[in-house]
Amino acid sequence: MGILTMKFGGSTVGTTTALPQVVSIILQEFERWEHLIIVVSALDGVTDALIEAAHLAQLGNRRGYRRIVATIRTRHLALVEQLPLKEEERGALKADIDHLLFDMLDVCQTLSEPSSVNLPVSEYIDAIISTGERLSARVIAALLRQNGIKGVALDAFDLIITDEVFGNANPDFARTREQVQANLMPLLERNLVPVITGFIGSTPSGKPTTLGRGGSDFTASLLAICTESSEVWIWADVDGMMSADPREIDNAHVIDELSYTEVAELTYFGARILHTRMVAPLREQNIPLCVKNVFKPQRAGTRVHINAPDFPSQIKAVTSSQSIGLSSTQNTDISELLTVVNYVM
Ligand code: ASP
Ligand code: MG
Repeated sequence: MGILTMKFGGSTVGTTTALPQVVSIILQEFERWEHLIIVVSALDGVTDALIEAAHLAQLGNRRGYRRIVATIRTRHLALVEQLPLKEEERGALKADIDHLLFDMLDVCQTLSEPSSVNLPVSEYIDAIISTGERLSARVIAALLRQNGIKGVALDAFDLIITDEVFGNANPDFARTREQVQANLMPLLERNLVPVITGFIGSTPSGKPTTLGRGGSDFTASLLAICTESSEVWIWADVDGMMSADPREIDNAHVIDELSYTEVAELTYFGARILHTRMVAPLREQNIPLCVKNVFKPQRAGTRVHINAPDFPSQIKAVTSSQSIGLSSTQNTDISELLTVVNYVM
C-alpha cells in the first residue's frame, strides 16, 4: 500500500478527548499501510504563546516571558499526567519537556539582554517558536510506544532544509530530499513510525527556521513528495473543506472532492484549514490529499485529486477574506475568480 503521510493539527494533539482518537487512527492505518509518517502541530495556542514570549524577551520583560513559559510547561505536564503512560515513559517525557523548555528559556534570556540589539533577532525567534512542535511530537511518540508501535519523535531540523527567510522560510527541495533519504527512510525501513515536528526546518548551517503560520501542512506535503508517499491526510477537528465558513453560513456543507487548482485557490483566498503552499508540490507529483475529522474518522472528508469531477461553472465554495468575498467554480483561473469577487462585493 505504500507510504501514508498523516498530519495532526493543533486541535487534535492537545486534549485527552482527541488524543485517544489520534492513537486509534494511527493504530488502524499502521495495519493498512506499508509505512506511516506522522507530522504534528504544536498544541492549539502554543505557537501564539511562544511568539508572545519571544516578543516579551525582545522587550527585556523577563517576568513576562517566564510566566508564559511556565503556563506552557504546566499545560504539557498536566496533559502528560492524564495520559495512559507507564511511569517510566511518563517520567522520561516530563524530563524531555523540561529540557526543551529550559533550553528555550536560555534563548529568551539571550534575547532579553540589552546587548541583543546586535543579534540576528529573527533567528532567535524561530529557535523559540519551534519549541511547540518539538513538545507535541514527543507526547505523541510516547503514546504510540505505549500502544505497541515503535514511535520515535523527530525534529525536522535534520530533514527540511530551507533558506534564511526566518519566520517564512522556503524549502530547498533538493537538499531536503537528500536529508529525507539519509535520515528518514532508514527509520521507515526499520519499521519505526516517525512522529515529525511540522512547521520547522533549518538552514544548511543548522539554524532553526519556520515555514510560516500553519506550516505543518507544508511539512507534510514536503515529506510526502520526498518519500513518494501514496497519499497525504490532514486531520483536523472539522469534517473537511467546507462550502463556506460554518460560523457565517448555516447550511455550509463538506465538499467531497476538489481539484488541486480549486483547493489552492480556496486556501489562497482565505480557507485557513490548509496552508497555501502545501498544494503545489502535491499537485506536481499527483499525490492525493484528504482532509478529515479526527472525531469522525469513518467519514471520507474532502479528497483532493487529479480526477476530481469537473462541472464547469458550478460554484463549489465561498471564502471571505476581510473585506472581500470569493466564490470558487471549477476550472476557473484567477482572473475569472476576481470577476466573481467584484460581483460578490
Ligand atoms: N504551530 C504552527 C502555527 O500555529 C504551525 C501549525 O500549526 O501548522 O502556526
Ligand atoms: Mg493548520
